[in-house]
Amino acid sequence: MAALPVRTCIGCRGKFPKKDLLRFVQAATGKLQADLTGKLPGRGAYVCQSQVCINVTFKSQKINAHLRSNLSNQVVDSFKQELLSLVSHRNVKEV
Ligand SMILES: [Zn+2]
Repeated sequence: MAALPVRTCIGCRGKFPKKDLLRFVQAATGKLQADLTGKLPGRGAYVCQSQVCINVTFKSQKINAHLRSNLSNQVVDSFKQELLSLVSHRNVKEV
């Protein structure tokens, strides 16, 4: 049985195959970036490609605790919007 790499979603705490999750990183500049290639450097974390998990994850307190960072509400919120629009385009075929 081949072991798939599994990661934990910050939103629901569920463990899922890495390929099913959305990775994002905090770059050295402090900026949040969706990592669609899985190759960006920086402190990364994973979240389900679901609006629910993204909404839960991108609250500044939660994300700052996770990244040990100090992002403003505004930065966190605009990144959340970016990810929400990303998954809404990607998940058209899902229920
Ligand atoms: Zn999740």
